[in-house]
Amino acid sequence: MSDADELFLRIIAREVPADVVYETETTLAFRDIKPQARTHVLVVPKTRYRNVAELAAADPGLLADVIATAHKVAELEGIAGSGYRVVFNTDADAGQTVFHVHAHVLGGEQLGFFGR
Ligand code: IMP
Repeated sequence: MSDADELFLRIIAREVPADVVYETETTLAFRDIKPQARTHVLVVPKTRYRNVAELAAADPGLLADVIATAHKVAELEGIAGSGYRVVFNTDADAGQTVFHVHAHVLGGEQLGFFGR
């Protein structure tokens, strides 16, 4: 595991500062340091899996916790009614840079489509 991949464990341990918006026993939600939308929050499981596929295979209940926290964040941010997007970048072509699975919760404005 590289230093970059350890970053979210260090945020969970409060060794690296983050703007935490919500926490449960199994998940942590904090603002992305480089927001791509008016609301841009990351949700991570407190146990590290490399990506969403590994998480889904190893612990589907924990994946459900991540999704539930993402929706709770949307409610807290006031965007649950207007709409929001949950994105899991998965490996190189998707641009995943931190290999501790995380959901991007994006919203607060009209989002464009994405792909190329
Ligand atoms: P990925 O590209 O899907 O792996 O997303 C990684 C995200 O982590 C990017 O959107 C970064 O802006 C974000 N990020 C990197 N370092 C930090 C940090 O220290 N705090 C909050 N977000 C971070």
